[in-house]
Amino acid sequence: MESQQSHNQLQIIFVPYPTPGHMNPMIATARLFAMHGVNVTIITTHANASTFQKAIDSDFNSGYSIKTQLIQFPSSQVGLPDGVENLKDGTSTEIISKIARGIAMLQDPIEANLFQELQPDCIVTNMMFPWTVEAAAKLGIPRIHYYSSSYFSNCAEHFIMKYRPHDNLVSDTQKFTVPGFPHSIEMTPPQLPFWLRTKKPATAYFETIFESEKISYGTLYNSFHELESDYEKLGSTTMGIKSWSVGPVSAWTNKNDEKKANRGHIEELGKEEEWLNWLNSKENESVLYVSFGSLIRLDNAQIVEIAHGLENSGHNFIWVVRKYERDESENTFLQDFEERMKESKKGYIIWNWAPQLLILDHPATGGIVTHCGWNSILESLNAGLPMIAWPIFAEQFYNEKLLVDVLKIGVPVGAKVNEFWNSTSETVAVKREDIAKAVEILMGSGQESKEMMMRAKKLGEAAKRIIEERGHSYNNLIQLIDELKSLKKSKALGEKAD
Ligand code: UDP
Repeated sequence: MESQQSHNQLQIIFVPYPTPGHMNPMIATARLFAMHGVNVTIITTHANASTFQKAIDSDFNSGYSIKTQLIQFPSSQVGLPDGVENLKDGTSTEIISKIARGIAMLQDPIEANLFQELQPDCIVTNMMFPWTVEAAAKLGIPRIHYYSSSYFSNCAEHFIMKYRPHDNLVSDTQKFTVPGFPHSIEMTPPQLPFWLRTKKPATAYFETIFESEKISYGTLYNSFHELESDYEKLGSTTMGIKSWSVGPVSAWTNKNDEKKANRGHIEELGKEEEWLNWLNSKENESVLYVSFGSLIRLDNAQIVEIAHGLENSGHNFIWVVRKYERDESENTFLQDFEERMKESKKGYIIWNWAPQLLILDHPATGGIVTHCGWNSILESLNAGLPMIAWPIFAEQFYNEKLLVDVLKIGVPVGAKVNEFWNSTSETVAVKREDIAKAVEILMGSGQESKEMMMRAKKLGEAAKRIIEERGHSYNNLIQLIDELKSLKKSKALGEKAD
């Protein structure tokens, strides 16, 4: 790794989208570019920057050229209190739509002031900012599309959008096969994102995202070759642009416990000793970690089912429960449950935000219930853990298929409908019996569980090798940086000749 300050240094701007699932991998990727000699600027708002600034300062103090450029979140214009700038802070539909409106208003400050002021050689921008492809074209520089999930899910969405295999089905329980795939993957229409199932006002926005990818210079994936090589290949042939898998980026940048603990939202972590002492008191691989990521807030009826399902399974668990605006009576159930679990020592509840990387890496953790968010999947794999797949919304149902049908490291809990939490009525998507059954399969001592555990461990080892020197992801990163340096050079030569 090198650190250099020179006029000829490659300058790259990163623009993350403000949710942890999008920001965590992009910040890690930006740090990797800086660690390999690139001059990196991350554009974001104050509150978002505060969640990762410690890591950036530490990299800068180690000699890397990396900084954060702050822009103002339009809090008062959208009617939000200061500091609410990330979709994970949305505790109600109203707050979520205000945050989303604020994010959309960032286009002007980002484009008008910063791209032009900073004069980058390239921009790496989140998929949710499709307009950046034109901003880059105006500046005559490449835009790299940052896709925050799997090749598998991007390919699935691409083919389903193109061929619409679900359109002619007569019922919601009828299955279709994802077209163009090397594996036979079956889904039902309700498992698709709402905007793809039928035309909605949001459909046009997602179509623009796909269009913007196709006219970008290339796509960066937080994925790795051994994990989804068939889809890595399929992705680059179908999108018609270059792509690079440089993951798993979290394992690459957060190698020690201090870095893992410092990654994002440290301000929200509970008292460390408590959860750590609890985990330390458990046998190796005996605890199930239960998390639905950064955005999902489950309704009370579903929470009650999860609590009973976990308790009835008889296995140890550590469960992160995100708070939202509930009435007091709803909280009482969980408080009583927490007390009971404290007494039986079977379960531990973390309120709101967990130090996920540390929990996954703890020797007592043996599996995870996941909503199939891509980062959680990669982070679990880094720790060599098999999963219970409980997709809720967006592309999570595709990721479930990858885990269950292709990689065979996941037990499906039986989720059927793709719906964001704020659009659900008080319904129970998965019943306690099904939860307990899935836990028993994953955490029990049967052959199926052993085999899944072995496959997950193998992938975890591959994930560690691939980011070391000469590993596939390592090489991809170096090759991309070299390519961008050559582009910069030929552009400079062209300008001289003019
Ligand atoms: N995360 C965390 N603590 C939590 C919940 C989430 O550190 O209590 C992190 C998690 O490690 C991951 C990100 O937030 O890096 C969530 O991303 P993912 O793609 O798994 O799901 P999303 O939240 O985008 O649905």
